[in-house]
Amino acid sequence: METFDNFIGGRYVEAESREWIESIDPYRGEIWARIPRGREVDVDKAVQAAHAAMYDGPWAKMTATERGKLLFRLADLVERDAERLARLEVRDNGKLYAEMLGQVQYHPNWLRYFGGLADKIEGRVIPIDKPNHFAFTRKEPVGVVAALTAWNSPLLFIAWKCAAALAAGCSIVVKPSEFASVSTLAYADLTREAGFPDGVFNVVAGYGQEAGSALVNHPLVSKITFTGSDATGVRVYEQAARQLKRVTLELGGKSPNIVFDDCNVDAALAGAVSGIFAATGQTCIAGSRLLVQNSIKEKFIERLVELGRAAKKGDPMSPDTNIGPITTPPQFQKVLDYINIAKQEGARCVLGGVPVAEGTLPGNQFVEPTIFADVTPGMRIAQEEVFGPVLSIIGFADEEEAVRIANDTIYGLAAGVWTSDIGRAFRVSSAIRAGTIWVNTYRAVSYMMPFGGMKHSGIGRESGVESIESYLETKSTLISYDSAVPDNPFTMR
Ligand code: NAD
Repeated sequence: METFDNFIGGRYVEAESREWIESIDPYRGEIWARIPRGREVDVDKAVQAAHAAMYDGPWAKMTATERGKLLFRLADLVERDAERLARLEVRDNGKLYAEMLGQVQYHPNWLRYFGGLADKIEGRVIPIDKPNHFAFTRKEPVGVVAALTAWNSPLLFIAWKCAAALAAGCSIVVKPSEFASVSTLAYADLTREAGFPDGVFNVVAGYGQEAGSALVNHPLVSKITFTGSDATGVRVYEQAARQLKRVTLELGGKSPNIVFDDCNVDAALAGAVSGIFAATGQTCIAGSRLLVQNSIKEKFIERLVELGRAAKKGDPMSPDTNIGPITTPPQFQKVLDYINIAKQEGARCVLGGVPVAEGTLPGNQFVEPTIFADVTPGMRIAQEEVFGPVLSIIGFADEEEAVRIANDTIYGLAAGVWTSDIGRAFRVSSAIRAGTIWVNTYRAVSYMMPFGGMKHSGIGRESGVESIESYLETKSTLISYDSAVPDNPFTMR
């Protein structure tokens, strides 16, 4: 069994309590590593280190160009170690090696993109209305950033959050999910090797209620960037509000994937599979509501069922595997509960609807790819996030009805539109209230494109040039070069 420590002030340190959390390999169902059970005292050390680095250490004095160069160096190291980091992610969360390797190999793009942006963060000279004044704005780092991440793609979230935050000149304390902390703990050493000053990048592992909550509440943390469920997101937002902290929240979804009868059906089928069975459905952008035009619905369902049935379940390290295990025991139970709810609600189960029989695969944490037809928009299975390979299919008559159903949710993270009518593509993509719309594609994510949710799917955006603003404060400076002393100091100038 491997042991991983917290990373604080540029070195690995044990948790004060010397207590550990066991990390379970979801495919094998066995403990393979242990991570520290960080608590308030460990969080405090990490935040103090981050605060000292930010305001007293070499990080504070470094030029933006130098910060950018460190991000480039880190990008090279992530590239070098991509296979090792991806293997660690698979051990922790059981997602396919092909998916995790792809994500880690793509990760350096964020580091280089924001590394390049670091010395292009500029203020403005304002042609101020006051005579004999020179006025300008400057962008300053917001302060110590707390990054809390989910278990499904830990290093992808580090890319989204930390590349921009470091480019902006912030220091960071990361609290990864207790279910998948190892890759983030291992990644920390690369920041040291790249040459980031001690305390700029810190990781404290532990439970959300202990380490997570302590981090959110720490008075020296200025900004929280959180990826996780909307229930936890609300709690984090409430806690942050008490100290007026800035927040970015990347939360859940119930994304509609809309198939019109004029689409390229083969492409739409591939998009539907990618939307719900990729990552075993454990992705915030899952296209978990498939809206299919009534005219092609039954034929489409038939072919989709065939594709779902052919998906191979098994070892996530094997290149032949399409569907891996559900990552955690509570999540496994939640997926099964939702399958039962859908059945009770009267949805027609046309594929799966059961766990893979015990003893068939190690770990016993697999769910058969599941498709429900005849789902109506008001059913819980059409409204609530399952976070598993469970698809709800809803029929619609025309464009207007499709848009109405698509928007009938508290979420607004993403949506797919399948059509060969360019006018419809523009109309529907502008009518849907979601942060990302894919037309004739699905699950395409780029470091250049702002990503985030509308409505209950979150607050703020990550990736893309504008996202760096969330790690910056604007300071206005007015300099008078007037030699005259004002007549009346009791009035506003
Ligand atoms: P979660 O909300 O249970 O946990 C997320 C993180 O918050 C973890 O690190 C956890 O330890 C921590 N946490 C828990 N309670 C806390 C508290 N009281 N105070 C501070 N921190 C606390 O989410 P999860 O189960 O790890 O992830 C799955 C969820 O994440 C899904 O809802 C999914 O849609 C969402 N998600 C969103 C995005 C996105 O970018 N929008 C991406 C991936 C996952």
